Amino acid sequence: MNLENTVKYHFAKSTLISDSPRATASDSLTGTDIMAAMGMTQERAALGYSAFLGKMGISNNDRERAIDLLAQYALTKCDKVAALRKLDAGVKPLVMHQLATFAFEDYSRSAASVKQCESCSGEGFIEADVFTMKSHYTMKLPQFAKDLKQSPGDFEVKRQVKEVARVLCSICNGKKVVSCACGDCRGRGKAVNKELTYKQGVPVLADCKRCSGRGYERIPSTEAYAAVCRMTAAITLDTWKKSVKPFYDQLIAKFDIEEAWAEAQLKQITK
Ligand SMILES: [Zn+2]
Ligand SMILES: [Zn+2]
Repeated sequence: MNLENTVKYHFAKSTLISDSPRATASDSLTGTDIMAAMGMTQERAALGYSAFLGKMGISNNDRERAIDLLAQYALTKCDKVAALRKLDAGVKPLVMHQLATFAFEDYSRSAASVKQCESCSGEGFIEADVFTMKSHYTMKLPQFAKDLKQSPGDFEVKRQVKEVARVLCSICNGKKVVSCACGDCRGRGKAVNKELTYKQGVPVLADCKRCSGRGYERIPSTEAYAAVCRMTAAITLDTWKKSVKPFYDQLIAKFDIEEAWAEAQLKQITK
């Protein structure tokens, strides 16, 4: 049994316990076994299992637990980085929690994820300049304009009026969020490679260059840096790039490593 398989049991949990009539003996036994196996995995690989469940959107608790556990781990390791070691004792845990939060967002992002629409700052509407044509007449239209072979248009002055209106955001269509899927390959990770296609004369699919075959855009690490800057001014952009970002990247990788560990534990328990 692998981690992916446990997902359905989390969703089935409530129905197992509540309204369904007592399941047949063998069914409930299997369910209990699986619950026990999941409990043991949680015990042996708390970080990886919580991270996986958080990523799958099983519960917000798992997400927060995974972030807390990673922040604790980061605290034990961060003194290796001089810039982090020098942080005030009061700020350090907050910075680690912030880094862990961003690391989780990056780890759990997929082509199916959505992010806040930047165009409308998540409002769904934007203020746009709307131009309308207004006109007025320079004189009272004379009844005899016709006789003078003049048309009312001769006395009309047109002008453009700019008004600010709230209109639906055209980037997200008012949904407030946009897909994280890569715009070039639309989440597939593969795109037609122009050079190879030209050389070989047939469409050649290759790893999408924009997302390196991942299928989605990663969270720019500068966003994590900006968030850290709101807590402390002690880390310059240069220091971030040289020493803190590599540490942050390790935190992201830690989630993958721990998830693989949880996977291995679950397999061993249920084999
Ligand atoms: Zn929008
Ligand atoms: Zn792509």
